[in-house]
Amino acid sequence: MQTIGFLGLGKMGAVMAPRFIDAGYPLTVWNRNIEKAEALGKAGATVAETPAAVAESTDIVISMLRDDEAAEQVFLGPSGLLSVDVEGKVFIEMSTLRPPTARALAERCAEKGAGFIDAPVSGTVAPAKDGKLMALVGGSEADLERARPALDVLTRRIVHAGPVGQGAMLKLVLNLPLAVYWQSLAEAVALGAAGGLELATMLDAMADSGAATRVLPLKIPLILEGSDYVAFDIATMEKDATSIVETGAEFGVPMPTIAAALATYAAANAAGMGSDDAVSIVRHLTETLEAERKR
Ligand code: NAP
Repeated sequence: MQTIGFLGLGKMGAVMAPRFIDAGYPLTVWNRNIEKAEALGKAGATVAETPAAVAESTDIVISMLRDDEAAEQVFLGPSGLLSVDVEGKVFIEMSTLRPPTARALAERCAEKGAGFIDAPVSGTVAPAKDGKLMALVGGSEADLERARPALDVLTRRIVHAGPVGQGAMLKLVLNLPLAVYWQSLAEAVALGAAGGLELATMLDAMADSGAATRVLPLKIPLILEGSDYVAFDIATMEKDATSIVETGAEFGVPMPTIAAALATYAAANAAGMGSDDAVSIVRHLTETLEAERKR
């Protein structure tokens, strides 16, 4: 049986990694803040002190980190994954990264005789916990086949988008409408509220119409009541929207709606809402306008 290494036990990694214990795989984990790793240690995982120690002791190494900078540090840092002999291992990079970052990491892995796929995911914390993510994979067929048993533990579907970097590219494509959707909903309910409609009435009607997305009904209680539950935070949305806008600029593709959404997420982040769930921007515009009217 393959041994699994898992690095990055944030909101997503903390529910993905334990699935390997449940599936009977020997699991070694690492997290920058070691306390999160120790929780998994109590559940049966081996806790490593450095990424290098994970790479040394496991066959398949999965990372689920915040951003490009985090992935570069974890792979290329002084005690990073690639600071030791990794010949014959396969890296599954599941963070949402920019395509050039995925390609650069894959090159460094290839120089050391290791395989690499980028496999960012569609789906948030609940599907991650249930093993129902969709992995968007970039990499060779051979590396994907070696990674597939581990990916099967985490996913309901694997989409092979092309060579390394194309999983990351497809993830940007999927995230664009989602980021814009919450922005469009924020504008819609701000308009309705200004015209005297109740938020609950608007959301109820929208959820039963062509204005709904699959996630809207799931998020309505969170929008209406607010909650401490955070699946996908505003800072992450700003990071992803920034990657989309910059990738669009690189390819010369005009994208005014995501640029507007990015401005909203950046403003919300600057207002101290970075760790709130992204759907909290739906009420933010209405509340900001109401506060301005009262002044
Ligand atoms: P998160 O809760 O913020 O967790 C981020 C993880 O990255 C933590 O383990 C954190 O370690 C680690 N990290 C951050 N900076 C680091 C650094 N410089 N060096 C080493 N480790 C570092 O993020 P998340 O929501 O789990 O998301 C993880 C990735 O999945 C992101 O790329 C995100 O875009 C993507 N994603 C998220 C969702 C979602 O619904 N949340 C859905 C699809 C894709 P510490 O614990 O030490 O801070």
